[in-house]
Amino acid sequence: MLSFPDANHPALARIPTWVQEKLSPKAVDYIKRVHYWVETECIPAEPIVKAQLAKLGRWKTPPLIHELRAKAKKEGLFNLFLPKSFGSLSPGLTNLEYSCCAEIMGRCYWAAQTMNCHAPETGNIELLAKYCNEEQKKKWLMPLLNGETSSAYSMTEPDRASSDATQIACRITRDPNDPNTLVINGRKLYGNAMWNDDLSVYILMACSDPDNPNPWKRHSTVIVPKNTPGFSMVRNLTIMGYDHAPEGHGEYLYQNARIPASNIILGEGRAFEIAQGRLGPGRIHHCMRLIGQTERAYELALLRATDPQKKPRGRLIGDFDSNIERIASMRLQLDSLRLVVLNAAYTMDVHGNKAGRYAIAQSKILVPATAAKIIDECMQMYGGQGLTQHTPLPEMWTYARFVRIADGPDAAHRHQVGRDQLKTAGPIRERHGEYQKRYRELCGKWEVDHETMVGGAL
Ligand SMILES: Cc1cc2nc3c(=O)[nH]c(=O)nc-3n(C[C@H](O)[C@H](O)[C@H](O)COP(=O)(O)OP(=O)(O)OC[C@H]3O[C@@H](n4cnc5c(N)ncnc54)[C@H](O)[C@@H]3O)c2cc1C
Repeated sequence: MLSFPDANHPALARIPTWVQEKLSPKAVDYIKRVHYWVETECIPAEPIVKAQLAKLGRWKTPPLIHELRAKAKKEGLFNLFLPKSFGSLSPGLTNLEYSCCAEIMGRCYWAAQTMNCHAPETGNIELLAKYCNEEQKKKWLMPLLNGETSSAYSMTEPDRASSDATQIACRITRDPNDPNTLVINGRKLYGNAMWNDDLSVYILMACSDPDNPNPWKRHSTVIVPKNTPGFSMVRNLTIMGYDHAPEGHGEYLYQNARIPASNIILGEGRAFEIAQGRLGPGRIHHCMRLIGQTERAYELALLRATDPQKKPRGRLIGDFDSNIERIASMRLQLDSLRLVVLNAAYTMDVHGNKAGRYAIAQSKILVPATAAKIIDECMQMYGGQGLTQHTPLPEMWTYARFVRIADGPDAAHRHQVGRDQLKTAGPIRERHGEYQKRYRELCGKWEVDHETMVGGAL
């Protein structure tokens, strides 16, 4: 259990008691350092990053971010997400402990990037570490771990319902004249923009065996270097009008793009094994960052509610009952969301990612949708400025909104949860049969005619 004054430290105060109890001294130290980093190096520098981006033409990583990445690495704040399986490279945090760090990182949109803990890098690094051979790891994984380059994940397609990845149609064929060369043709949406010089590789999921009777064995995952001839970016996709530079979201064309067959990860037809291993922790990280970001929106609403210069009808905005109610409701929702995600992280720690499936889906369904609603309320309390660039609220809302779709739409997760829940009806029916049996026994004992009773024991 945390002792005073740690329990009241601003980095730790909102962490539920059952989690505080499980944090190692090392984790407490990391959480406090990440808090200090975000509060002093990142949040105050947000306008400077925007100014540097505007000056550099948007597609170069601002020098301030490069400087912070080098500094974070030196201070041992790099790659905090890495699980223990990474040996000496891992800080050794559990999912639960790292989640507490991720929430703090979420307070500034790009803070995670300064610590090499951002999406899609974290998922890509875990994927490469888990499924690449030694040679591939040296070539593709190590530069990412060292923060020398960055990567993108490319699965979604404009002409397919990509939440059902068995439909992915981008084709990989072997060159008939050179079986050691793969030829790729198709169109992809998303995956960071190749216009950014820091980006070097794409992890592509595409169809290599469309006639395989097993739809889960038709796809392969391959590495496509960004400078591959025949691979081009058509445009950057804006998200609710934001270009999300300098990372962006590209739309891509593969036109007879050729890569060596040695770029296949794990083996032909094994993309689904890989996809299974990739998503659990990444979804939890997104959710915790969203909670951190929403806490910040909530703080802005509190500032506005108590601003003595803003007094409609001579009263502070926070003096109106409707706003007092609103603030209470936002607080309750935020604390509930944190419990849900930390429970998912802990379930993964104790029982593994597969057993955590329900808790991960629960987080992915509840957090982005509720965060977007809370931020919307914060904008409402802020008034007209809340919808402008005077506040980060519109960007925060956009982030929450897009996570309802990114990494799988919430409807698909609800569908899965609902289907699993329907399977629980069998045992419930058996239990109800037992109620009936016992009810008839009791009717006999107490001389009640069960034929004339309405309903019986339900
Ligand atoms: C900001 C952002 C970043 C992204 N980054 C990446 C990236 O880096 N790499 C990448 O490959 N992709 C990325 N994506 C794409 C994202 O993963 C896909 O958009 C998502 O998986 C859904 O696929 P889709 O767009 O083809 O929608 P579809 O699969 O066509 O689904 C559309 C809608 O159909 C409904 N639906 C689908 N399935 C079900 C179901 N089972 N039950 C009920 N309704 C359902 C839902 O309403 C759903 O929203 C990103 C998306 C966003 C918004």
